[in-house]
Amino acid sequence: MHSSESATCSKCNIEKPLNDFYKNKNKSNGRDSHCKKCVLKQKKRSYKLNMQKKRIVESFKVTEVGSPDDEMFAYHFSEIVNYLLR
Ligand SMILES: [Zn+2]
Repeated sequence: MHSSESATCSKCNIEKPLNDFYKNKNKSNGRDSHCKKCVLKQKKRSYKLNMQKKRIVESFKVTEVGSPDDEMFAYHFSEIVNYLLR
């Protein structure tokens, strides 16, 4: 494949056609440095984490009287993050 028609994703390190990259005017080749697959994966992951975070915050609000314990919250949140990133 011609070098100008493909790029290597800086996330998964796989060489892919430029069509597999989202357009990005700020980049020299006009494309994102991460392929579409990696961008979507990242988006999905951060959405999942946000949902989990919301759920934890809400559960603390319901079960705890007063403000949530920061240390407990940090502990539970890191547990879930570790689970999702496994
Ligand atoms: Zn990729």
